[in-house]
Amino acid sequence: MSQPIKMAYLYEDLMNTYGDSGDVKILRYLLNNQGYQVQVDNISLNDEFDTNEYDFVFFGGGQDFEQSIVAKDLQRHRETLQDYIEAGKPMLAICGGYQLLGDYYRMSDGTTIDGLGILPLHTIFKADSRMIGNTHVKTPWGDIRAFENHSGRTYFDEGSDLKPLGEVIEGYGNNPEDKQEGLHYKNTIGSYSHGPILRNDNIAEAIAKMIIENHQARVQALEK
Ligand code: GLN
Repeated sequence: MSQPIKMAYLYEDLMNTYGDSGDVKILRYLLNNQGYQVQVDNISLNDEFDTNEYDFVFFGGGQDFEQSIVAKDLQRHRETLQDYIEAGKPMLAICGGYQLLGDYYRMSDGTTIDGLGILPLHTIFKADSRMIGNTHVKTPWGDIRAFENHSGRTYFDEGSDLKPLGEVIEGYGNNPEDKQEGLHYKNTIGSYSHGPILRNDNIAEAIAKMIIENHQARVQALEK
């Protein structure tokens, strides 16, 4: 029997806001339609995690309280996730998950939690202006429409050459100033788009393709 496509869902029980788990369901549906079996593992607090066993990593959004718990546990996986991302394997991180890929997140109570520090970006909570509403973003795969709800403002570090996922037509995206939404680095996508984001066929199909390619490479390596 052929090997299933394996997805790691990071902290599914703690990080899942505004329909983010729909992203995993949509990918499962698209991959099933192409004849692939899909296995989704919830990687939560204290679990072992070796990214070499996975074809895709998903990290959803979360509120500050959950984020602060997750951020501590997540540090155990810093190296394996960094290797995974740098190797160009596919990952989708939404809102709170996206924030934790960066250097730090300064939360609502003023405390700062460490992110993974894999991507040169940081996030600062601004209490007086929550960014909430529908979004319309122009990406290289076409336009996407989604929903955002966050107080964290994400900024790429000074001098970094990070690229956003797209350009904001409606809504806020990373912060109110830059008119940029999310991030796209190798095959890692970070985004503030809930709703879920993958209800947009263009980006869902692009990610499904990345997953299949990564799966084929992983299975080939196993067979050697
Ligand atoms: N707690 C973060 C913020 O408010 C993320 C929210 C989310 O993931 N939905 O910015």
